[in-house]
Amino acid sequence: MAEMILEVKDLRKEFRIHLLGGKLITSLQGVSFNLERGEFLAITGKSGSGKSTLIKCIYRTYLPTEGKIVYYPKNDPPIDLSSCADETVIDLRISAIGYVSQFFYAIPRVTCLELVSQPLLQQGLSREDAVAMAKDMLLQLQIPEELFDAYPSTFSGGEKQRVNIARALVKKVDLLLLDEPTASLDKENRSIVLSSLLKLKQKGVSAIGIFHDFEDLKKFADRVLVLENGRIKSLKVI
Ligand code: ADP
Ligand code: MG
Repeated sequence: MAEMILEVKDLRKEFRIHLLGGKLITSLQGVSFNLERGEFLAITGKSGSGKSTLIKCIYRTYLPTEGKIVYYPKNDPPIDLSSCADETVIDLRISAIGYVSQFFYAIPRVTCLELVSQPLLQQGLSREDAVAMAKDMLLQLQIPEELFDAYPSTFSGGEKQRVNIARALVKKVDLLLLDEPTASLDKENRSIVLSSLLKLKQKGVSAIGIFHDFEDLKKFADRVLVLENGRIKSLKVI
């Protein structure tokens, strides 16, 4: 029997828009699915269908309005991400759950190499090991060595996105959440990113990723979940 890593059950997310006189927007409703350990699930759907909201609920950037999001650690009891303490979320973000946001934001006066080393230092690695692993990951994502000591705020869009991805992929996690990791990249860079992701798949990492490009999605996913107006339209093996 396949082992489960994540169970999303009857998820609902509403936003109350104060600027619109307290109008209620329902971004997700009745969303239920399971993710198996080692599985790569792609999410796709039109703009505004709730894809980012779903990923942000799983990462607990947003608190769901209703429903459960249960994470099953390998050797520990299950954790409901929709109701656990913030401290638990912080620990999980350091050690178990990685996230690549749709948008890169550079931290001022932090170099590229420092930015990618930080997650490893947080996990308790020595500076020497953290820097060595960060360099490896940056090279894997084909960031030229001359840029390691530069500030990513000056980088091109594609370089910024690859640094963003390097920062998320450099540390060992159990579950990766990727919000359009290949969206702003050209064909060559998309394939660099995808091969880094597929390397992690071989290591047993599980992932949920939002994709628009069908070729990328096909390379990435075992199954595809299509969202439409906040509901699951289909969930199929690809
Ligand atoms: P997608 O990623 O599929 O393009 P989103 O999940 O970003 O869609 O958005 C889905 C819907 O939820 C949109 O109508 C969006 O305006 C709304 N929404 C998302 N985040 C917020 C927020 N923080 N406050 C209010 N509305 C939001
Ligand atoms: Mg989005």
